[in-house]
Amino acid sequence: QAQQQGGNALRYYDQEMNARAIERLALEADLRYAIERNQLQLYFQPQAHIHSLQIIGVECLIRWHHLGKLVSPIEFIPLAEESGLIIPMGEWILRTACQQAKAWQDAGTPLIVAINISVRQFQHPHFLSLVRQVLQTTAVDPAWIELEITESVVMQDADHTIELLQQLRDLGVMLSIDDFGTGYSSLSYLRRFPINKLKIDQSFVGNLVSGNQDAAIVDAIVRLGHNLGLTVIAEGVETEAHLAVLAQLHCDEIQGYYFSRPLPLAELTRFLSSQIA
Ligand code: C2E
Ligand code: MG
Ligand code: MG
Ligand code: MG
Repeated sequence: QAQQQGGNALRYYDQEMNARAIERLALEADLRYAIERNQLQLYFQPQAHIHSLQIIGVECLIRWHHLGKLVSPIEFIPLAEESGLIIPMGEWILRTACQQAKAWQDAGTPLIVAINISVRQFQHPHFLSLVRQVLQTTAVDPAWIELEITESVVMQDADHTIELLQQLRDLGVMLSIDDFGTGYSSLSYLRRFPINKLKIDQSFVGNLVSGNQDAAIVDAIVRLGHNLGLTVIAEGVETEAHLAVLAQLHCDEIQGYYFSRPLPLAELTRFLSSQIA
C-alpha cells in the first residue's frame, strides 16, 4: 500500500517535472524572440543622496511583457543565462541604457545610469569590445555609465578579473559591486579591484533596526567601503526608519521603494520634473 502510494507520488512528480520542463522550453523559445518583438523594456529606479534626497542616478531594470503579463527578471535572467540568450539580450540592454544616458546628457540633465551585467555576459570573450563599441556608437559620456557586477563574478579567476575591470575603468565607466555581502568576497581581493561603489544587498536592509544584527553588518560594510575609498549605497530601502538607521551609519546613497519604485521612462520623466519643481 505504502509502496503503491509512493509510486503514484513519483509518477505525479514526474508529470509535474515534465510539465515544468515543457513550460520552460516554451518560455525560452519566446524569450528568444523577445527583442525582435519589442517586448523588452527598461525600467529605471532612482537612486538618491541619503541627506539631500537629490537624485544622482538610476538603475536600469529589465522587464519582459509576455502574453499580457510582466515576467520578472528573477524568472527569466537565469533562463537567459543558461541558454546563452543573455548575450544578445545584454547587448540590447547595454545599448538601450547608453542611448538613454546620452539623451539625458544632451538634454542637459545628465544622470548616472547603472546597468546590471550578468556573470555570463561579463565572462564573454567579447564583453570589453562590446562595451567599447556601444560607448562609441552611442557617443555617450562614459563618466555617467556604471556597470553593476556581483560578487560571484569578481571572485572567479581574480587576476584575469582585475585586468578586465581595469580595462573597463580605462574606458571611463564606473563599476559597482551589486548585492554586496551575500557572496563570499575575500576582503583582501576587494582592495585590489578598481571599483567605485558597494551596493549593500537588500536582505540586510529589510529588517534594519538601530542596534540589531543587520545594523552591525551594514555598519561594517559602510566602514569597509569608506576605508577603501568607495561610495556605499543601500538597496531595498522601504521606510523612513530604514533611511534613519542608514543615515546614522553614514551610508552615502539609497535606492528603494521609499524613494521610488522602478519606473518606465514616461513616469520617471514626470518624477524627475516633480523633484526639480
Ligand atoms: P538587483 O540588481 O539587485 O536589483 C534590485 C531589485 O530589487 C530589483 O528587482 C528592484 O525592483 C528590487 N527593489 C528595488 N527597491 C526595492 C525595495 O525597496 N524593496 C524590495 N523588496 N525590492 C526592491 P527586479 O527588477 O525584479 O530585478 C531582480 C534582479 O534581476 C536584479 O537584482 C538583477 O540581478 C536582475 N536584473 C534586473 N534587470 C537586469 C538587467 O537588465 N540585466 C541583468 N543581467 N540582470 C538584471
Ligand atoms: Mg543591480
Ligand atoms: Mg542588488
Ligand atoms: Mg538582487
